[in-house]
Amino acid sequence: MKVKVAINGYGTIGKRVADAVSLQDDMEVVGVTKTKPDFEARMGAEKYGLYAAIPDRVKAFEDAGIEVKGTIEDLLEKADIVVDCSPGKVGAENKPLYEKAGVKAIFQGGEKAHVAEVSFSSLANYDDAVGKSFVRVVSCNTTGLARVLSILRDMYELRKVRATMIRRVVDPKEDKKGLVNGIMPDPVKLPSHHAEDVKTVLPDVNIVTTAFKVPTTLMHLHSIAVEIDGNVSVDDVISRFEEEPRIMLFSKEEGFTSTAKIIEFAREYRLRYDLFENAVWRESINFHDGELYITQAIHQEAIVVPENIDAIRAMFELADRQESMKKTNRTLGIV
Ligand code: NAD
Repeated sequence: MKVKVAINGYGTIGKRVADAVSLQDDMEVVGVTKTKPDFEARMGAEKYGLYAAIPDRVKAFEDAGIEVKGTIEDLLEKADIVVDCSPGKVGAENKPLYEKAGVKAIFQGGEKAHVAEVSFSSLANYDDAVGKSFVRVVSCNTTGLARVLSILRDMYELRKVRATMIRRVVDPKEDKKGLVNGIMPDPVKLPSHHAEDVKTVLPDVNIVTTAFKVPTTLMHLHSIAVEIDGNVSVDDVISRFEEEPRIMLFSKEEGFTSTAKIIEFAREYRLRYDLFENAVWRESINFHDGELYITQAIHQEAIVVPENIDAIRAMFELADRQESMKKTNRTLGIV
Protein backbone atom coordinates (compact mmCIF):
# COMPACT_ATOMS: atom_id res chain seq x y z
CA MET A 1 0.00 0.00 0.00
CA LYS A 2 1.34 3.40 -0.99
CA VAL A 3 0.98 6.37 1.35
CA LYS A 4 -1.52 8.80 -0.20
CA VAL A 5 -0.14 12.33 -0.23
CA ALA A 6 -2.09 15.57 -0.76
CA ILE A 7 -0.23 18.78 -1.57
CA ASN A 8 -1.95 21.88 -0.20
CA GLY A 9 -0.43 24.84 -2.09
CA TYR A 10 0.99 23.98 -5.53
CA GLY A 11 3.59 26.76 -5.64
CA THR A 12 7.39 26.80 -5.62
CA ILE A 13 7.80 24.11 -2.96
CA GLY A 14 4.51 22.30 -3.59
CA LYS A 15 5.14 21.48 -7.23
CA ARG A 16 8.61 20.17 -6.46
CA VAL A 17 7.43 18.02 -3.55
CA ALA A 18 4.62 16.64 -5.76
CA ASP A 19 7.10 15.64 -8.46
CA ALA A 20 9.42 14.08 -5.88
CA VAL A 21 6.59 12.08 -4.26
CA SER A 22 5.54 10.78 -7.66
CA LEU A 23 9.03 9.31 -8.15
CA GLN A 24 8.75 7.12 -5.02
CA ASP A 25 7.37 3.57 -4.98
CA ASP A 26 6.00 3.81 -1.44
CA MET A 27 3.88 6.98 -1.79
CA GLU A 28 1.70 8.69 -4.40
CA VAL A 29 0.14 12.11 -5.03
CA VAL A 30 -3.66 12.04 -4.74
CA GLY A 31 -4.16 15.70 -5.66
CA VAL A 32 -2.90 19.26 -5.34
CA THR A 33 -4.58 22.57 -4.48
CA LYS A 34 -4.47 26.15 -5.65
CA THR A 35 -6.34 29.27 -4.56
CA LYS A 36 -6.46 30.98 -7.97
CA PRO A 37 -7.04 29.73 -11.52
CA ASP A 38 -3.61 30.69 -12.86
CA PHE A 39 -1.14 28.82 -15.07
CA GLU A 40 0.23 26.83 -12.12
CA ALA A 41 -3.32 25.68 -11.35
CA ARG A 42 -3.75 24.56 -14.96
CA MET A 43 -0.49 22.60 -14.80
CA GLY A 44 -1.42 21.07 -11.44
CA ALA A 45 -4.84 20.04 -12.78
CA GLU A 46 -3.29 18.29 -15.78
CA LYS A 47 -0.54 16.56 -13.84
CA TYR A 48 -2.09 15.57 -10.50
CA GLY A 49 -5.74 16.60 -10.28
CA LEU A 50 -6.70 19.94 -8.80
CA TYR A 51 -8.76 20.86 -5.74
CA ALA A 52 -9.72 24.33 -4.52
CA ALA A 53 -7.67 25.32 -1.46
CA ILE A 54 -10.44 27.74 -0.54
CA PRO A 55 -13.83 26.01 -0.95
CA ASP A 56 -15.78 28.97 -2.36
CA ARG A 57 -13.29 29.35 -5.24
CA VAL A 58 -14.46 26.23 -7.10
CA LYS A 59 -16.53 28.35 -9.50
CA ALA A 60 -13.56 30.60 -10.33
CA PHE A 61 -11.66 27.54 -11.61
CA GLU A 62 -14.67 26.28 -13.56
CA ASP A 63 -15.19 29.74 -15.10
CA ALA A 64 -11.55 29.70 -16.22
CA GLY A 65 -12.05 26.29 -17.84
CA ILE A 66 -9.78 24.47 -15.39
CA GLU A 67 -11.06 21.10 -14.25
CA VAL A 68 -11.43 21.06 -10.49
CA LYS A 69 -12.20 17.83 -8.67
CA GLY A 70 -13.51 19.35 -5.44
CA THR A 71 -12.32 21.25 -2.39
CA ILE A 72 -9.46 20.73 0.03
CA GLU A 73 -11.89 18.86 2.30
CA ASP A 74 -12.66 16.40 -0.53
CA LEU A 75 -8.94 15.94 -1.12
CA LEU A 76 -8.18 15.32 2.55
CA GLU A 77 -10.73 12.47 2.54
CA LYS A 78 -8.54 10.66 0.01
CA ALA A 79 -5.23 11.35 1.76
CA ASP A 80 -3.17 9.75 4.53
CA ILE A 81 -1.00 12.86 4.81
CA VAL A 82 -1.03 16.44 3.54
CA VAL A 83 2.14 18.33 2.75
CA ASP A 84 1.19 21.94 3.46
CA CYS A 85 3.13 24.16 1.05
CA SER A 86 1.00 27.25 1.50
CA PRO A 87 2.66 30.64 2.10
CA GLY A 88 4.39 31.22 5.46
CA LYS A 89 2.01 31.37 8.48
CA VAL A 90 -0.94 30.10 6.38
CA GLY A 91 -0.08 26.51 7.30
CA ALA A 92 -0.96 27.18 10.94
CA GLU A 93 -4.37 28.47 9.80
CA ASN A 94 -4.88 25.28 7.76
CA LYS A 95 -3.98 22.95 10.64
CA PRO A 96 -7.52 22.68 12.11
CA LEU A 97 -8.69 21.31 8.74
CA TYR A 98 -6.10 18.55 8.95
CA GLU A 99 -6.99 17.73 12.54
CA LYS A 100 -10.68 17.55 11.62
CA ALA A 101 -9.94 15.23 8.70
CA GLY A 102 -7.68 13.04 10.87
CA VAL A 103 -4.73 13.20 8.48
CA LYS A 104 -1.06 13.64 9.28
CA ALA A 105 0.54 16.87 8.09
CA ILE A 106 3.93 18.25 7.16
CA PHE A 107 4.46 22.01 7.43
CA GLN A 108 7.23 24.09 5.86
CA GLY A 109 9.84 26.41 7.31
CA GLY A 110 7.70 29.54 6.97
CA GLU A 111 5.67 28.31 9.95
CA LYS A 112 6.57 28.81 13.58
CA ALA A 113 8.13 25.71 15.14
CA HIS A 114 5.19 25.15 17.52
CA VAL A 115 2.84 24.39 14.59
CA ALA A 116 4.16 20.80 14.73
CA GLU A 117 5.22 18.23 17.30
CA VAL A 118 8.74 18.31 15.94
CA SER A 119 10.94 20.24 13.49
CA PHE A 120 12.82 18.04 11.04
CA SER A 121 15.98 17.78 9.02
CA SER A 122 16.99 14.32 7.78
CA LEU A 123 20.64 14.24 8.85
CA ALA A 124 20.02 16.04 12.13
CA ASN A 125 17.03 14.30 13.72
CA TYR A 126 15.21 11.80 11.45
CA ASP A 127 14.31 9.61 14.43
CA ASP A 128 12.43 12.43 16.20
CA ALA A 129 9.78 12.36 13.45
CA VAL A 130 9.21 8.59 13.54
CA GLY A 131 5.50 7.91 14.00
CA LYS A 132 4.61 11.60 14.49
CA SER A 133 1.42 13.21 13.12
CA PHE A 134 2.60 16.81 12.69
CA VAL A 135 6.12 17.59 11.49
CA ARG A 136 7.70 20.83 10.25
CA VAL A 137 10.51 20.62 7.71
CA VAL A 138 12.84 23.50 8.57
CA SER A 139 13.49 26.33 6.09
CA CYS A 140 15.96 26.39 3.22
CA ASN A 141 18.66 28.25 5.16
CA THR A 142 18.20 26.07 8.23
CA THR A 143 18.30 22.88 6.14
CA GLY A 144 21.57 24.05 4.58
CA LEU A 145 23.11 24.79 7.97
CA ALA A 146 21.70 21.68 9.65
CA ARG A 147 23.19 19.31 7.05
CA VAL A 148 26.71 20.68 7.38
CA LEU A 149 26.58 21.00 11.16
CA SER A 150 25.16 17.46 11.59
CA ILE A 151 28.18 16.09 9.76
CA LEU A 152 30.65 18.23 11.74
CA ARG A 153 28.93 17.41 15.04
CA ASP A 154 29.51 13.71 14.36
CA MET A 155 33.21 14.37 13.67
CA TYR A 156 34.25 16.96 16.27
CA GLU A 157 33.42 18.75 19.52
CA LEU A 158 31.85 21.97 18.23
CA ARG A 159 32.34 24.94 20.60
CA LYS A 160 30.55 27.71 18.76
CA VAL A 161 29.15 28.34 15.28
CA ARG A 162 28.87 31.76 13.67
CA ALA A 163 27.05 31.91 10.35
CA THR A 164 26.22 34.83 8.09
CA MET A 165 23.46 34.34 5.55
CA ILE A 166 23.58 36.40 2.37
CA ARG A 167 20.07 35.78 1.14
CA ARG A 168 18.49 35.93 -2.30
CA VAL A 169 15.87 38.64 -1.93
CA VAL A 170 12.97 36.74 -3.59
CA ASP A 171 12.41 33.66 -5.74
CA PRO A 172 12.73 34.10 -9.53
CA LYS A 173 8.97 34.07 -10.16
CA GLU A 174 8.17 36.78 -7.61
CA ASP A 175 7.51 39.98 -9.54
CA LYS A 176 5.60 41.87 -6.86
CA LYS A 177 8.47 42.51 -4.48
CA GLY A 178 12.22 42.66 -4.56
CA LEU A 179 15.30 44.75 -3.92
CA VAL A 180 16.81 46.37 -6.97
CA ASN A 181 19.74 48.27 -5.59
CA GLY A 182 21.04 47.82 -2.07
CA ILE A 183 22.01 45.38 0.67
CA MET A 184 19.37 44.96 3.34
CA PRO A 185 20.26 43.82 6.85
CA ASP A 186 17.33 41.49 7.63
CA PRO A 187 16.88 41.53 10.52
CA VAL A 188 18.65 44.72 11.50
CA LYS A 189 18.59 43.73 15.16
CA LEU A 190 20.97 40.83 15.58
CA PRO A 191 21.17 37.87 15.90
CA SER A 192 18.81 36.57 13.21
CA HIS A 193 16.19 33.88 13.96
CA HIS A 194 18.03 31.26 11.91
CA ALA A 195 20.17 30.15 14.86
CA GLU A 196 17.08 29.41 16.97
CA ASP A 197 15.68 27.50 14.03
CA VAL A 198 18.84 25.37 13.74
CA LYS A 199 18.48 24.55 17.45
CA THR A 200 15.02 23.09 16.81
CA VAL A 201 16.78 20.20 15.05
CA LEU A 202 20.27 20.42 16.62
CA PRO A 203 19.58 21.58 20.19
CA ASP A 204 23.15 20.99 21.38
CA VAL A 205 24.81 23.24 18.80
CA ASN A 206 25.86 26.67 20.11
CA ILE A 207 25.16 28.90 17.12
CA VAL A 208 24.61 32.57 16.35
CA THR A 209 23.52 33.91 12.94
CA THR A 210 23.23 37.17 11.03
CA ALA A 211 21.41 37.71 7.73
CA PHE A 212 21.37 40.16 4.83
CA LYS A 213 19.29 40.31 1.66
CA VAL A 214 20.92 41.10 -1.68
CA PRO A 215 19.46 41.69 -5.17
CA THR A 216 19.69 38.14 -6.57
CA THR A 217 17.12 35.38 -7.01
CA LEU A 218 19.37 32.38 -7.64
CA MET A 219 20.68 31.11 -4.31
CA HIS A 220 21.47 31.98 -0.71
CA LEU A 221 25.10 32.07 0.36
CA HIS A 222 26.36 31.09 3.84
CA SER A 223 29.67 32.08 5.38
CA ILE A 224 30.19 29.70 8.30
CA ALA A 225 32.88 29.71 11.03
CA VAL A 226 32.95 26.89 13.57
CA GLU A 227 35.12 27.02 16.70
CA ILE A 228 36.32 23.48 17.32
CA ASP A 229 38.25 21.99 20.23
CA GLY A 230 41.40 20.18 19.15
CA ASN A 231 42.84 19.63 15.75
CA VAL A 232 40.80 19.52 12.59
CA SER A 233 41.89 17.83 9.40
CA VAL A 234 40.61 19.73 6.38
CA ASP A 235 41.16 16.59 4.30
CA ASP A 236 38.90 14.59 6.67
CA VAL A 237 36.17 17.22 6.39
CA ILE A 238 36.42 17.22 2.61
CA SER A 239 36.31 13.38 2.52
CA ARG A 240 33.24 13.30 4.73
CA PHE A 241 31.50 15.92 2.57
CA GLU A 242 32.43 13.92 -0.53
CA GLU A 243 30.82 10.83 1.01
CA GLU A 244 27.53 12.62 1.81
CA PRO A 245 25.29 12.76 -1.29
CA ARG A 246 23.37 15.80 0.01
CA ILE A 247 26.56 17.85 -0.13
CA MET A 248 28.08 18.69 -3.51
CA LEU A 249 31.56 20.17 -3.70
CA PHE A 250 32.32 22.87 -6.25
CA SER A 251 35.71 24.27 -7.07
CA LYS A 252 36.81 27.71 -8.23
CA GLU A 253 39.50 25.92 -10.22
CA GLU A 254 36.75 24.42 -12.37
CA GLY A 255 35.18 27.79 -13.00
CA PHE A 256 32.64 27.97 -10.18
CA THR A 257 33.37 31.59 -9.36
CA SER A 258 29.88 32.53 -8.11
CA THR A 259 26.33 31.29 -7.57
CA ALA A 260 25.66 32.24 -11.21
CA LYS A 261 28.10 29.54 -12.36
CA ILE A 262 26.67 26.94 -9.98
CA ILE A 263 23.20 27.59 -11.37
CA GLU A 264 24.58 27.48 -14.93
CA PHE A 265 25.82 23.96 -14.10
CA ALA A 266 22.49 23.04 -12.50
CA ARG A 267 20.61 24.17 -15.62
CA GLU A 268 22.20 21.26 -17.48
CA TYR A 269 22.00 18.89 -14.55
CA ARG A 270 18.35 18.94 -13.40
CA LEU A 271 14.81 19.90 -14.29
CA ARG A 272 14.15 23.54 -13.19
CA TYR A 273 17.88 23.72 -12.25
CA ASP A 274 16.91 22.19 -8.91
CA LEU A 275 19.98 21.70 -6.78
CA PHE A 276 18.84 19.50 -3.89
CA GLU A 277 22.39 19.46 -2.48
CA ASN A 278 24.33 22.03 -0.42
CA ALA A 279 26.82 23.59 -2.84
CA VAL A 280 30.04 23.84 -0.84
CA TRP A 281 33.13 25.55 -2.24
CA ARG A 282 35.98 23.06 -1.77
CA GLU A 283 38.64 25.77 -1.45
CA SER A 284 36.64 27.57 1.24
CA ILE A 285 37.07 24.69 3.70
CA ASN A 286 39.92 25.85 5.86
CA PHE A 287 41.03 25.55 9.50
CA HIS A 288 42.64 28.66 10.90
CA ASP A 289 43.39 29.58 14.51
CA GLY A 290 40.89 27.12 16.00
CA GLU A 291 38.08 27.85 13.55
CA LEU A 292 36.83 25.85 10.58
CA TYR A 293 35.61 28.03 7.70
CA ILE A 294 33.11 26.96 5.05
CA THR A 295 31.33 28.88 2.29
CA GLN A 296 28.25 27.27 0.76
CA ALA A 297 25.39 28.20 -1.54
CA ILE A 298 21.84 26.92 -1.16
CA HIS A 299 19.25 26.66 -3.93
CA GLN A 300 16.31 27.79 -1.85
CA GLU A 301 13.60 26.46 -4.17
CA ALA A 302 14.88 22.87 -4.08
CA ILE A 303 16.90 22.13 -0.96
CA VAL A 304 13.99 21.08 1.30
CA VAL A 305 12.43 18.67 -1.22
CA PRO A 306 14.36 15.50 -0.22
CA GLU A 307 13.71 16.29 3.45
CA ASN A 308 9.95 16.39 2.81
CA ILE A 309 10.13 12.89 1.31
CA ASP A 310 12.18 11.57 4.23
CA ALA A 311 9.73 13.16 6.68
CA ILE A 312 6.84 11.23 5.10
CA ARG A 313 8.77 7.97 5.47
CA ALA A 314 9.64 8.71 9.10
CA MET A 315 6.04 9.62 10.01
CA PHE A 316 4.68 6.38 8.51
CA GLU A 317 7.65 4.34 9.76
CA LEU A 318 8.34 3.14 6.22
CA ALA A 319 12.11 3.14 6.60
CA ASP A 320 14.93 4.11 8.94
CA ARG A 321 17.00 7.19 8.21
CA GLN A 322 19.68 5.50 6.18
CA GLU A 323 17.25 3.54 4.05
CA SER A 324 14.96 6.52 3.45
CA MET A 325 17.75 8.91 2.53
CA LYS A 326 19.25 6.32 0.20
CA LYS A 327 15.93 5.81 -1.56
CA THR A 328 15.17 9.54 -1.79
CA ASN A 329 18.65 10.21 -3.11
CA ARG A 330 18.44 7.48 -5.73
CA THR A 331 15.04 8.57 -7.05
CA LEU A 332 15.95 12.27 -7.17
CA GLY A 333 19.35 11.64 -8.74
CA ILE A 334 21.29 12.82 -5.69
CA VAL A 335 24.60 10.94 -5.94
P1 NAD B 1 4.56 30.01 -3.09
O1 NAD B 1 3.93 31.35 -2.92
O2 NAD B 1 5.40 29.75 -4.27
O3 NAD B 1 3.43 28.92 -3.07
C1 NAD B 1 2.40 28.93 -2.12
C2 NAD B 1 1.17 28.28 -2.73
O4 NAD B 1 0.15 28.20 -1.73
C3 NAD B 1 0.60 29.08 -3.89
O5 NAD B 1 0.45 28.21 -4.98
C4 NAD B 1 -0.76 29.57 -3.41
O6 NAD B 1 -1.73 29.48 -4.43
C5 NAD B 1 -1.10 28.57 -2.31
N1 NAD B 1 -1.95 29.12 -1.24
C6 NAD B 1 -2.23 30.40 -0.94
N2 NAD B 1 -3.09 30.46 0.11
C7 NAD B 1 -3.36 29.18 0.46
C8 NAD B 1 -4.18 28.59 1.45
N3 NAD B 1 -4.92 29.32 2.30
N4 NAD B 1 -4.21 27.22 1.53
C9 NAD B 1 -3.48 26.47 0.68
N5 NAD B 1 -2.70 26.98 -0.28
C10 NAD B 1 -2.63 28.32 -0.40
O7 NAD B 1 5.34 29.74 -1.72
P2 NAD B 1 6.60 28.79 -1.50
O8 NAD B 1 7.82 29.56 -1.81
O9 NAD B 1 6.37 27.49 -2.17
O10 NAD B 1 6.57 28.62 0.07
C11 NAD B 1 5.74 27.66 0.70
C12 NAD B 1 6.30 27.37 2.09
O11 NAD B 1 7.59 26.82 1.95
C13 NAD B 1 6.45 28.59 3.01
O12 NAD B 1 6.27 28.17 4.34
C14 NAD B 1 7.89 28.98 2.80
O13 NAD B 1 8.42 29.70 3.88
C15 NAD B 1 8.53 27.61 2.68
N6 NAD B 1 9.80 27.58 1.97
C16 NAD B 1 9.98 28.32 0.85
C17 NAD B 1 11.22 28.31 0.22
C18 NAD B 1 11.49 29.14 -0.98
O14 NAD B 1 12.59 29.62 -1.11
N7 NAD B 1 10.55 29.35 -1.88
C19 NAD B 1 12.23 27.49 0.70
C20 NAD B 1 12.00 26.68 1.81
C21 NAD B 1 10.77 26.75 2.45
